[in-house]
Parts: sequence; structure tokens; C-alpha cells
Amino acid sequence: MEEKTLKFAAVFLILLTLTMCVVLPYFPEIHTRAVEAREQRLAEEEFAANQTEMNDLTLAVSDMPAEEHESQLKLRLPEGVSGESIQYTNDYVTQTIRIEIPGTDSAYFDSYPIMGSSNHIDTLSYAHEGGEGVIEIVMDKVYELETEYDDSFYYFDFLTPQEVYDKVVVIDAGHGGRAPGATKQGVNEKDIDLAIVLQLKELLDNNDRNIGVYYTRTDDSNPTFDQRVQLANKSNADLFISIHNNSTLSGRMSSASGTAVMYNEADEKELGSRRFAQICLEEVTAKLGSRNRGLVEGDDIYIIRTSEVPVALIEVGFMTNQEELDLLRSEEYQKEAAAGIYQAILRAFDEGY
Ligand SMILES: [Zn+2]
Repeated sequence: MEEKTLKFAAVFLILLTLTMCVVLPYFPEIHTRAVEAREQRLAEEEFAANQTEMNDLTLAVSDMPAEEHESQLKLRLPEGVSGESIQYTNDYVTQTIRIEIPGTDSAYFDSYPIMGSSNHIDTLSYAHEGGEGVIEIVMDKVYELETEYDDSFYYFDFLTPQEVYDKVVVIDAGHGGRAPGATKQGVNEKDIDLAIVLQLKELLDNNDRNIGVYYTRTDDSNPTFDQRVQLANKSNADLFISIHNNSTLSGRMSSASGTAVMYNEADEKELGSRRFAQICLEEVTAKLGSRNRGLVEGDDIYIIRTSEVPVALIEVGFMTNQEELDLLRSEEYQKEAAAGIYQAILRAFDEGY
């Protein structure tokens, strides 16, 4: 009796193993799951390598009189330096503002501290680079900057995206840099994801509604997963869209094709992630005529799980399907995909997002 059971179990296990070996490689697994850990490490390495070394000097912000603007910084211009020669950049992805001020050293800021409110500043540091002083400010959230100057001072006003725009969208092109995503017949997924995002940008740039759009990347960079999702959280975006393309788990070509959209099942709001994902799915499949593969729970994907705003991760098509791969690499199909996503954004706003 016992021997019989053992034999049965052995045969069952062998059959199960064989079935898995044959079926699993063709199973259309969402590839973002499989590559997430490795890509996180790559992105962190790339980010660290691109960081410029700032002095550890942390500058103080001295309080401004209460009657002055609450979210303003005020810099005294060095002798002989006009406001015109001040250069600055505002990197939304890292919430980092870099201000180049000629004619300063660290002692200068001991004598003339930066004035303002430090409520929204995480760190403020100073470095001397190429004969110029550079101040680096890391903010707690995404801000738009408005600047003005007079003969003595340079002023930075920090506005929330909602103070500037009616609606805010964050668009994420999957992968980038040393993380190519799925790779098939010399085509990297990261390039197709980006191509679709750049087509979408064309449409959004020409939209006449007051929509603020922030992109995690518009080139071959590779922000970390946390930077991607924090761009959405820290801009308090109305919608967060991540664009990917799918492949079978093994990367083998197969007949699996079509569009799927991942959503955050923990977000149970009526106008939440699930409803938005459904809108994306309907609009993209309608434009592309692609097979509707339905919604997929995405809670195990970092950027979905940690998104505090309605999120949809769109797997536009399968790079492991020959017909769809040929379509995905054509500009026409990329444009249609972008048009579908664009329609989804407008429809979501019409539905009250
Ligand atoms: Zn991907």
C-alpha cells in the first residue's frame, strides 16, 4: 500500500515537472516581475556614478521676517554679480535644485546666509566647482520655480504643481540605461517604451488644457524605481502611467500577444488604480486593435505597490510575438499606442480623476 502511494507520487511528480518544463517558458508572464531586483541594483549604481561630489558643508537658512513670502528663498548677490548671471536647474525626478553663483565661496554664505523658510528643504549643500559656487537644494516635494531679482537679491518662489496646473500626470518609460528590459532580435524594450512616451509627449505638449506632465525619463537614463514612483507621489499627481512591453518568461517567441494593464489592487477607491487601468486597457486596445488580455494585479511591483496616486502599468504588446514585435518597432504603431494612452488620460479627467 505504502509502496503504491510512493510510486503514484513519483509518477505524478515526474509528470508535473515535465508539464512545467514544456508549459512554463511559453507562459506569458509579466516580465517586469522577473527583472525588478536586478534592474534596481543597476539603476542605483548608475545614479551613484552620476552624482557629483558635494561638500559636506550644510548651509543654514536664516528665517525671513514673517511678512515675507512663506515659500521663498532669497540670496544676496555678490558684489559685481548681476541676477542675469545666475544659472539654475530644477530636476523634478530627484527634487534637486542646483544654483550656480559666480563669485562665492563657502565663507560668503557665512557672511550672507540664505534667507527663507526651510520647511520644505531636505538638504542644502554647497560646493565650489570650476571657479563657481554651486548650491544644491533637495526639496521635500516637486516644486515649480519662479525667479526674480533686483540689484541686491535673487528670489526663488516655490510653487506646488497644483498651484501651476489644473491636472498633473506622471509618465514613466520602462527601464533605460544599462537595463534594456526585454531584448528581442536586436530590439530593446527600453527603446520602444521611450519611443511611445516621446510620441505621447508630442500629443501632451500640444494639448490646450492646463495639464502639467512630468517624465521619469525622456532619454536613455535609468532612474531608480523609487525615484520613478516618488515623482508621482511628490508631485501629488492625478495619474501615474508606466509604459512597458511584454515578453514570455523564457524570452522565447510564442503566439501570446496583446495588451495588459497592471493596477494596484490595494487602491480600492472608486476613482482609483483599477478604474484607471481599465480605461487605459479599453483606449489602448481600441486604438491598436490588439488583443485585450485584461487587468493584472500588480501589487508585487514596487512602483505600483508604493504609488500613492492612481497608477496603471501598461504592457502595450508582446516583443516575443513576431507579428507584434514588427508592429511595435514601427513608428506608426508607436503613435497609435501613444494616441490610445492620450485618450485614456483625457477620459480619466472627464470621469473625474
Ligand atoms: Zn518592461
